[in-house]
Formats: sequence, structure tokens, C-alpha cells
Amino acid sequence: SGMTTVIDGNAVAEDVRADVAATVDALDAEGVTPGLATVLMSDDDASSTYVSMKQRDCEEVGIESFHVEIDPDEPASELYETIDDLNAREDVHGILVQLPLPDHVDEREVLRRVDPAKDVDGFHPENVGRLVAGDPRFVPCTPNGVMRLLDDADVPLDGLDATVVGRSNIVGKPLSNLLLQENATVTTCHSRTTDLEAHTRSADLVVAAAGIPEFIDASMLAEGAVVIDVGTNRVEDSSEKGYHLTGDVDFESAKEKASVISPSPGGVGPMTRAMLLVNTVEAAAALTDSDVPL
Ligand code: NDP
Repeated sequence: SGMTTVIDGNAVAEDVRADVAATVDALDAEGVTPGLATVLMSDDDASSTYVSMKQRDCEEVGIESFHVEIDPDEPASELYETIDDLNAREDVHGILVQLPLPDHVDEREVLRRVDPAKDVDGFHPENVGRLVAGDPRFVPCTPNGVMRLLDDADVPLDGLDATVVGRSNIVGKPLSNLLLQENATVTTCHSRTTDLEAHTRSADLVVAAAGIPEFIDASMLAEGAVVIDVGTNRVEDSSEKGYHLTGDVDFESAKEKASVISPSPGGVGPMTRAMLLVNTVEAAAALTDSDVPL
């Protein structure tokens, strides 16, 4: 189609970071330095990369970062005690336990254990409940980033037919709830959906979050659809790294049909990182009863 807007997630994320940096300065003037603790209990390469990126992002905007690493062979109690300690610390306003966790650790217990007032991932059942009830505290970073991209691209959500492909607790489910809250009519698809194409083809907005490389192509989209690609899939290749990242959407074909499209990489990914910083300064402001406008 003639006029396709390609969303630049890096540029929007840069704006978000600039806002966060200004808030950090204002908090600083009140004697508060926002602090984020990251906890890693994994040998996984991707997980440790994510954690170091989050620390670097913090540094860049003036958020203090603390890091705890726990050997994945340690008993779960090590992690629980770490969380208890971080909950009690006054210089830690946000706590992020990097998922996935080793099999012998009960993930639900971990999510429940983090003080909901420091739960910057938004995965504590209290915060999940508040989101569903339309009274959000911490919105999970990836869906929050998607909403911010839609807002930035001036996509009117009121009355929009939205199809979300994926129903995970970290992406699909919270995003469906956020879109519903903004008065979209939401269809949530998953691996048991009978006729996926029918649901994507009839949608004004398609969000792809299934984790399958390039599986949504132009034939599955309506002319003029808004397409947000959350997928971040490692595809092996012969490069030095041995892989490259690709989305769930076949960008080249989809962009011919979409009115607005968010690519992957370069769309939701940078936004996810930026929204963690937003949640962390919000946690710091709330926990310290600061008057800083957010
Ligand atoms: P999960 O694997 O937890 O969930 C995938 C979802 O997709 C499930 O609900 C699954 O259905 C559904 N699904 C699987 N196959 C199909 C299919 N053929 N048709 C329709 N739905 C299907 O993944 P995540 O939600 O954690 O992540 C999704 C993608 O987003 C991944 O590529 C991930 O890397 C990426 N991601 C990117 C982030 C970012 O910052 N940009 C952050 C988080 C994730 P069912 O429930 O029935 O199994």
C-alpha cells in the first residue's frame, strides 16, 4: 500500500528514557535515588544478556542497579531469602527476578514473594488482579511498551477490532486486558485456535506474540491493518554469532498491506526495556511518598 508507517521503537524508547531521566533528576532533588535489583538464577546466555542490558539501561538514566546472582544448583530457599532481603531494603525500589527459573524452584512462589509495591515486572498476582480490574499499578513491560507504541502512532483504540496472537502471562493476556480497557474489541488467539487466519484477517489491529518466526504474512492481514510484532525469535544462520533475530511477522510482505507496522527487531524490544525504567521510577516515587509528577 502507498503510505505505510514503520514504527521506530528505538526512537520512541529514547523519548521514554529522556522522560525517565528527568524524573530521576527530580527524585534526586528530593534525596531519592531510584534503585533496581536484578536477580539471576540461571546459566542461560540469553537470560544473562537480558539482565546486563537492564543494568546498563539503569545506569544510563541514573537509576542505581543492584545485582544478585544465585547458582542454579542452589536450593530454592536461597532465592526466597534473597527476595526477602531485597523486599526489606530501603535503597531497592524495584525487584526483577529474571525468568525462567530452574525446575526445582516454584515460579509461582517467587512471583508471590516479591513485595507487590516493588514488583516492577507486574507479575505478582495482586498486580495482575489490579490490571484486570482496570486499576493497574505496575503494567508488565512488554504490553506496556506495545500500548505506548500504539499511542505514539496515534492509533485510536476505541471500538477497534484487535486480535492478539498469544496468551502468555507476560505478553498476550495482559495486552488483551489493556486493549479491552481502552475499549477495543479483543480476540485472543492461541495454539488451540481453530481458524487463526479468520481472526487476524478481520482485525484492524494484529499483535503477534506467539514465538514462531515470520508466520504471519500479508495473506493473513486485512488491507490497512495495524501490525505490532512482539516476536523475538532466534533463527540459526551461518553468521559469526550463529543466529539472527526475527519477528513473528513476515515484515516484507506484511508492510505492503499494513497502514502501520512495528518491526522486530527495532519495535517492541527497545520499548520493553524502557518501560522497566518507567516502572522503577514509579516504584521509587510511590515508596518514598515523593511529590514528583510522573
Ligand atoms: P510463550 O511461548 O509463553 O507464549 C506463546 C503463545 O503463543 C502461547 O499462548 C501459545 O498458545 C501461542 N501460540 C503458539 N503457537 C501458536 C499458533 N500456531 N497459533 C496461535 N498461537 C500460538 O511466549 P511469550 O508470550 O513469552 O513470547 C512470545 C514471543 O514474544 C516470543 O517470540 C518472545 O521471544 C517474544 N517476546 C518479546 C519480548 C520483547 O521484549 N520484545 C518480551 C517477551 C516475549 P498456548 O497458550 O495454547 O500454548
